[in-house]
Amino acid sequence: MAKAIGGCCECGREKDTMMLRPHHLLDIISGYGHGQKFKPHPYGHAVHIVAQAVLANLDLEMQFVVAADDICKPCTHLQPTGQCDDVVGSLSPRVSKQAYNDQLDRRLLIYLEFPEHAVMTARQFLQIVDKKLPGLEIICAHPKETHEYRLKGLVDGLRKLGIRSA
Ligand code: SF4
Repeated sequence: MAKAIGGCCECGREKDTMMLRPHHLLDIISGYGHGQKFKPHPYGHAVHIVAQAVLANLDLEMQFVVAADDICKPCTHLQPTGQCDDVVGSLSPRVSKQAYNDQLDRRLLIYLEFPEHAVMTARQFLQIVDKKLPGLEIICAHPKETHEYRLKGLVDGLRKLGIRSA
C-alpha cells in the first residue's frame, strides 16, 4: 500500500495516513462502480495500489490534499519540484494537469464542505460523498465524460461498497 510521504509532521498527519487528492478517490469509486479492473499504468502511478487498499479496507485513514499525493508519488510525471508536468490531453487547447487538478480539487473541497488537510477514513469520506449525489458529479466528471455516466459510476460504486442502500 502507498504510504504517506515522510512521517508525522506539523499538519498532524499520522505516519501511515494515506495522502490523497479528493478527485483521485472519486475516480477510483466511479471506476469501481463501472466495473474497472485496476492495473498498473504506463505512467507508473499508484492508482491500482491505492484502489486495492481502499476497496479492501474502508477504515483506512487518509488526509485530503490539493497537491501531489500518494498516487502521484511513483509517477513518471511527478517532478522533483512536486509539480506534475503532464497535460490534460482531452482538452483543446491542452492545459496543465497540475493547474487543472488543483482547481478541480479546490472546487470539490468547497462542495464537500471540509478543508484541505482534513483527515478521515475512506468510509467517512464516502458517506459525505453519498450525501452530495446527485450534484457532485457535475464538478468531478472528466472533460469527455457525461454527468450521467459519472453519477452512475459513483452511485454504483457506493452501492457495491455498502455505503448507499438500493
Ligand atoms: S496528477 Fe500527474 S503526477 Fe499525479 S498521477 Fe496524474 S499524471 Fe502522475
